[in-house]
Amino acid sequence: MSAPSMLDDLAARFPASPAAARLKAALLFAGVRYDPCLPEAAAWAFPNYMPFTLPPGLPAFEGQRQVQLPYLLRMADDTQVRLRIKPDSPFSVRKTEGPLGFEIYEHDRKVADTTFEPRLPWADQLTADGTPMRATGLSQHGDMLVMNVAPGCEYFVVPGGEGGRSRNLSCTFCLYGLPDQRMKPLGQELFVIDVPRPTIARVIEACQHPETHAKQLYMVGGSMVDMAQEGDRFVRIAEQLAEAGLTERYYVACGSGAIPRKQMEQMKALGVRGACFNLEVWDPAQFARICPGKNSIVGRARWIEALEDAVDVFGPNDVMTAFVGGAELEGEGAFSDPRQALESNLEAGETLIPKGIQPIFSLHWKVTGKNRGEEPLYSLDMFLRLNEGLAAIRRREGRLINPDFFTRRAAYMQLEPDYDEGLEGGAPPA
Ligand code: SF4
Repeated sequence: MSAPSMLDDLAARFPASPAAARLKAALLFAGVRYDPCLPEAAAWAFPNYMPFTLPPGLPAFEGQRQVQLPYLLRMADDTQVRLRIKPDSPFSVRKTEGPLGFEIYEHDRKVADTTFEPRLPWADQLTADGTPMRATGLSQHGDMLVMNVAPGCEYFVVPGGEGGRSRNLSCTFCLYGLPDQRMKPLGQELFVIDVPRPTIARVIEACQHPETHAKQLYMVGGSMVDMAQEGDRFVRIAEQLAEAGLTERYYVACGSGAIPRKQMEQMKALGVRGACFNLEVWDPAQFARICPGKNSIVGRARWIEALEDAVDVFGPNDVMTAFVGGAELEGEGAFSDPRQALESNLEAGETLIPKGIQPIFSLHWKVTGKNRGEEPLYSLDMFLRLNEGLAAIRRREGRLINPDFFTRRAAYMQLEPDYDEGLEGGAPPA
């Protein structure tokens, strides 16, 4: 008797989900088994930031037990998936003579041709002043360049605590905003609006590389406690991007906090086309628990109002807000029932999508175990149910994900563009 098929089971239970989205979700949850073709491909593929340690019983690769692995799978239809290794997965990647050079198998059945996102042509280059381009605050996920020249987030060190100390009001899931040594080479100083001009000049040089093959340029950064100041920071960066012609070359989007409308309008005038102010968590009590800085310094109502302002300024197909799917299920005070998280997140869709604001759900990966494995907090069923629900709302409202802003080749942990692929729309029905 052959082993049960996860993909057949998902096809039977989630017929409203596209096959590509089911496969992607299955791979995000179940991972693939290790195969030596993976470290071999890492010679040219975009690498995972963490090396992989070969478990006992598997032969060393080129004499090494710690190996680099590719980070992102890329299918023939441009579906992009974060690659993770799980020893008990039903899936494996094999090197073949097929059109893309690799194939995905579920047990012994081939399910898709695949390859990996390649190492970026610009990442090994130097800027004119000798800085490696990958150290300029730029990273890339397929179609999307992400520019972060001010990574330190002031919510980690909010002034006004007891005895003159600062308070940590950072979002509970966040590690990447921690003010640390990354700020030094970029010249970022907390509570200072401007990022030094040479920093911006270097990142612009990297974005100008002729072979980024990117479509979007997404400006992000750590939060400032003063939203008007944060808005000014983004406006000044946008001015320099516009001067360099990058607002023409890329769909530039502002990934700031809930900045004032005035600065949104200034950015729009400079050629910035979209905005994504991340609300992270929908339920008001969970938002206060998980995002204490956003909640107490800006406030949930103001955050939503800023998203509505952004729709007025940038347009109804050009505003998104990202959520950390499953963050409500972790820590003290968490929802006790995953269905509460699902209902709350669908409510976000029902409220925001008709207003022209697209909620985007990334999986929240909890770091577990002594080998620091990562597991999503949502179950696979919950994630597919959420995405089916959101996709149905988008279709009902005639508001699909705008592929100029967010393509399936940029969505390595999110499914929204995969559900909307091939559908016509983007404007509300007449
Ligand atoms: S606002 Fe929250 S998620 Fe964003 S960088 Fe600061 S702590 Fe992290």
